[in-house]
Amino acid sequence: IYNFNAGPAVLPSEVLLQIQEELLDLQGTGLSILEISHRSKEYEKINGETQQLLKELLNIPLDYEVLFMQGGASTQFAMVPMNFLLAGSVASYVYSGTWAGKAIAEAQKIGQVAIVASSESSNFRKLPALDNMKVPPGTAYIHLTSNETIAGTQYKNFVDTGSIPLIADMSSDILSRSIDVSDFALIYAGAQKNLGPSGVTVVIARRELLQRISAPIPDIMNYRIHADSRSLYHTPPVFAVYIVNLVLKWIQANGGVRGVENRNRAKADLIYYAIDDSDGFYSGLADRDSRSLMNVTFRTSNEELEKHFLLESERNGFVGLKGHRDAGHLRASIYNGVTYEQCKALKEFMIDFQKRFG
Ligand code: PLP
Repeated sequence: IYNFNAGPAVLPSEVLLQIQEELLDLQGTGLSILEISHRSKEYEKINGETQQLLKELLNIPLDYEVLFMQGGASTQFAMVPMNFLLAGSVASYVYSGTWAGKAIAEAQKIGQVAIVASSESSNFRKLPALDNMKVPPGTAYIHLTSNETIAGTQYKNFVDTGSIPLIADMSSDILSRSIDVSDFALIYAGAQKNLGPSGVTVVIARRELLQRISAPIPDIMNYRIHADSRSLYHTPPVFAVYIVNLVLKWIQANGGVRGVENRNRAKADLIYYAIDDSDGFYSGLADRDSRSLMNVTFRTSNEELEKHFLLESERNGFVGLKGHRDAGHLRASIYNGVTYEQCKALKEFMIDFQKRFG
């Protein structure tokens, strides 16, 4: 089966096998990861090691915290304004698609929001430019979405926001390429695309930003509480964190983030080539310079043909190629766990399909 689903979790097969092998006996403890206490030294080790692996792989500066939280990126949509959007300030958001829209809607429930860049008028085919944002005075932070999973768009470069904290939802492209973490005050990402299974959300935050939190909010929603307890404030999602640990080791053993990035570029090239070389039989949904390396969105000339494409692709072992209901059409999600060979097989299938129906 070639898995091109947008989520959750496309895990490397080596990692899945290791989980299977260790399920009943975690590294000689005689216990399953599902049973050991989250206060045990074994779990403490996994927790600390996983934070450290992420710091090494992403080159995270020393003044940042790595947190493992629950509730998915959707909880972060609410937590970010709850922690940082205080009365009298305004939060500036970049409106690049469905996911940014959800983050905006949550922030609007908490306080004042300004949309400082938007590509709604192009139906999110392209990303809003970041270089001429009109950021209002009193802006507490600027929020953007690095990769819009549904539209299939991805920022290649970010922007220097000076003293205003830049906060990013990187749910669908974290660890798929190298980034400069110091450009951001806070990054959050549901793990279930490139990092592991659903159930754990990674937050990378500048310590100084967390020190500033003064909002009267419940402890469970307060980043600083989680940071002060090294992500052990309450029962953590131990199984999910353990799997993230294995995935990070897999990335480390497979060329690190550079290796992953090179593979991801080569994988995306294969599928975009099939689109661009098709004389219009296929066309991309996103503008070329906004195209995502993670979610390739495309279409054919008519709906009937797309239905047939999906039917045939499924018969040939490809799953998950139906576009999200918001964007329609077709989408191949090619996260870290999807191999070059699988993308090559999809490219060949697309070319063959075109030969027969073009
Ligand atoms: N942000 C982006 C970019 C996403 O792709 C998704 C889910 O696909 C979310 C946020 C929502 O994440 P969750 O389902 O973990 O709440």
